[in-house]
Order: sequence, then C-alpha cells, then structure tokens
Amino acid sequence: MTSLLQFCLDGIYPPRCALCGNIITPKGHLVCSDCALKVKLIEEPRCKCCSKPVESQEQEFCMDCAKRERTWFERGFALWHYSTVMQQSIAQFKYHHRKEYVRFYADSFVRAYGDMILALDLDGFVPVPVHWTRYIQRGYNQAEVLARAIGRELDIPVYADLLVRNKKTVAQKQLDSHQRSANLEGAFSFSHQWGNRTNGINKIMIIDDIYTTGATMNFCAKVLRQAGIDQVYFGVLCIGAGY
Ligand SMILES: [Zn+2]
Ligand SMILES: [Zn+2]
Repeated sequence: MTSLLQFCLDGIYPPRCALCGNIITPKGHLVCSDCALKVKLIEEPRCKCCSKPVESQEQEFCMDCAKRERTWFERGFALWHYSTVMQQSIAQFKYHHRKEYVRFYADSFVRAYGDMILALDLDGFVPVPVHWTRYIQRGYNQAEVLARAIGRELDIPVYADLLVRNKKTVAQKQLDSHQRSANLEGAFSFSHQWGNRTNGINKIMIIDDIYTTGATMNFCAKVLRQAGIDQVYFGVLCIGAGY
C-alpha cells in the first residue's frame, strides 16, 4: 500500500491497539506502550515438549505432556501466557472481526521464533481448521489468518486444506479427559483433495491461536503423521500453565 493511501486510511480508521482496542498512543506502533508491558512472553522453565511454563527447572515435562499416552508432535513453540489481556485480545480477533490484530501477533511470533523456525526447514504451515459452518458464520478461520501472516513474513507456504474438520467440537475445557478424546474422535481428517498423499510435504508446523491441554493439537498431529508426514511441530500464540 502506498504511504499516502495508508496515511489517509489511518486518518479515517486510526489503527487500534491489538490488546485493548483503543486508538494507539503513540502513533506508528501496533499496541499502546502501556499495553505492551502487560503481555508476558513464555520463558524458562518450560515443558521440553509443548513449551508450557512449568514450576521448576527440574520438571522436564508439564502435567499434560507427562500423562499423554503418545505425543505425535516433535515440539511446540508458544509465545504468550494466556492472561486476561490475551484472552480479550484473541476473542476480538476470533469473534469480532479484528483481523488486523494479526500484524501484532505475527510480528511478535516471528521476532521470538523466526530464526528457530527457519532452521527447521519446514515444508509448510497448516492452520487448525474450523468447521465449515463456523467458517461461514465468522467469515474466516483465525488460525489460517495467523498462519498466512507468519508464512508471509518467513516465506513459508501455508496449506490450509490439508486438514479438514468434520464436526463441531464442544470447547475442550468443559470436558474431562475421557470426554475430551470422545469429543475429538473423528473430528479431523486428512483432506481427500490431496488424494491421501502428502505430495512431498514431510515436515510441517500446525498453527493455532490457543493451546490448553494439547488434546486438539495432538489429535491433528496424529492425523497428519498417519497420513505420512514425517515431522509435525506446532506454533501457538498463547498457552496455559502446565502445573
Ligand atoms: Zn492498548
Ligand atoms: Zn508440555
């Protein structure tokens, strides 16, 4: 976009902070300077598998990774704690058409993990799909918007049709572990459009906005691995605590 056009657009639709939704002060940033201090990056100690914060350096894996029967992904990259600020921001991004927040999300994600992700030499990103009825209702899949923004910055292709969501699942947090696996059973499959072939795609990263217990992520990774993809990583904006 030309800078003059951007200048005019900024006058009509001043950029909003991706965290509080107010017009940004100072200008030219993606979030307000006060809000920037409210988000907390995930730091050590963290789970060696999913990168969830854990209580101490001695704790190798979080509770969810430790008790999982089989983990189908190699490891995960998570950016922020799922704090109240992030819950509100992501709800706006996901349900209230604040797609422009993706610039802040993708920039922050690439700043933290860009080099590590490039070193993995991925074949592509795969967003966690939403059911088609939800897609029509919302007009977009927030995970795909995020994957495309990160993909553009890192020059990595996005395969949004590789995974298909077959049913609307109930929010996992309302269920116990038994109900969670029943809820996910058959929820995702590998796309028929790909003729059940991976077409040379061997190493991918699944992208989503939020990771809680990892049940959905592990299920998506299982579908991809069983379809013949060798290595599956994941990248998410927010993750819960693992203790
Ligand atoms: Zn703000
Ligand atoms: Zn973990």
